[in-house]
Amino acid sequence: MKPKRSLVYFLLLSSLALAQHPSTHKKAAKAAPVTRPKADPALTIHQSALIVDTHADTPQRFLDENFDLGQNTPVAEGHIDLDKIRQGNLGAEFFSIWVEPEFKGHYSQRAMDLIDSVYQQAARHPDKMTMAFSANDIAQAHDQHKFAALMGIEGGHAIENDMRLLRDFYRVGVRYMTLTWSNTNEWADSSGDIQDPNVKHHNGMTDFGKDVVREMNRLGMIVDISHVSDATFYQALLVGQAPVIASHSSSRELTNQPRNMTDDMLRAMTNNGGVVMVNFYSAFIDENYRKASSDPEKIKQRDAEVDAYKKAHAHPDGSPVTYDETAAIEKKWATQFPRPPLKSLIDHIDHVAKVAGIDHVGLGSDFDGVTSLPEGIDSVADLPKITQALYQRGYTREQILKILGGNFMRVMREVEATAKRLQSERKESDALSFEDIELMVGNRVNSAQLTDRIKQHGINFELTPERQTRLKSEKVDDSVLEAIVKARKK
Ligand SMILES: [Zn+2]
Repeated sequence: MKPKRSLVYFLLLSSLALAQHPSTHKKAAKAAPVTRPKADPALTIHQSALIVDTHADTPQRFLDENFDLGQNTPVAEGHIDLDKIRQGNLGAEFFSIWVEPEFKGHYSQRAMDLIDSVYQQAARHPDKMTMAFSANDIAQAHDQHKFAALMGIEGGHAIENDMRLLRDFYRVGVRYMTLTWSNTNEWADSSGDIQDPNVKHHNGMTDFGKDVVREMNRLGMIVDISHVSDATFYQALLVGQAPVIASHSSSRELTNQPRNMTDDMLRAMTNNGGVVMVNFYSAFIDENYRKASSDPEKIKQRDAEVDAYKKAHAHPDGSPVTYDETAAIEKKWATQFPRPPLKSLIDHIDHVAKVAGIDHVGLGSDFDGVTSLPEGIDSVADLPKITQALYQRGYTREQILKILGGNFMRVMREVEATAKRLQSERKESDALSFEDIELMVGNRVNSAQLTDRIKQHGINFELTPERQTRLKSEKVDDSVLEAIVKARKK
């Protein structure tokens, strides 16, 4: 249908009027009230949102480059700084405490150094940012127009197989832990090396791994299933009592990356009540990019270049050359593949929203940890473009607010409530957990006292062969093991 000619003229004239600067046409301004350009509804939604991103690798820049969040960063060097955060209206970021496996023997120390680097940033910019440890903290920071910094450990190897370290990390403010990074650790399998026959796998998780999940629930540390193998994923859901998150994972149905989540996994997330925070990395959201960038010859050439750099720049103290130092090589290498369109990222958000449900999708950018981002997304300052794209696809204000942060806030509150419940239940129950026993062993409670306490309180766990081995390796007396078996039979 063609509009009538007069209507066409009217539209033409009014658009001309809008294009002209009002001060140069005082007559027109007097005749009609000043026409302000209509506010972009998507931008209005974006500016009103509490936006939470659950994964950025910036702490390596803080620590290894002495980068200050107050510095304005060229996008080729970094995706996040305070100015860009303000432009993107980011409310809260989970800074990743990623411990490179090369730090073997010093995992927890490296983690603590990264944790300190985040606190240092908050201390340097108290007027603009604050550390946050709970959903309420995030909301409060938002009310005060401050950016909230949180921390998540990426890679369970950081706890060095020690439950006490896990609790210590919670105490210093860590609020999620990715059970594995790309490396299988001693208690959970990773998707990163699941095909590698040289790696010792566990068919998912060991008993200790399952205890880690339980202890995280009790502490109120969110279980993060990004990076884990499929078996680890399903076991974590089975064992856990609180919703989980995928802090930075996309859809495997759309982009065939083993680190992405299948539709079946997405549906399992619905039942779990958790949330999948979609990763922005080009190779995880675009099949063309993934295929091009996984060319073995090209990867070989990149790895050789990185290795040569590492050799030439070896640290005199023997500490590993970090990812941060070689990132420039990897970024340059990545530029040979054309960036995917923004549409690819939006397709992933859309897909997760459809399969898992609108209450189970969010944003997990992986900023400062990836070498390529879709077109238009150069840094955190470009977050409004995601809202615009979602709005254009017909997402309502309410739905967009959920994706931008609402869903994550709900999960964080549920994890906090579960921890509260589990802690109060623990107080009421007298029976000793395996944890209690291990703690007493660690504190050198002698065998006679241990046996006494077991007789007195009873126990609430199964002494599996793995647990038995663990106690034996800690030189626990056979009399204690017998007492446990007897107490269980009661
Ligand atoms: Zn990661």
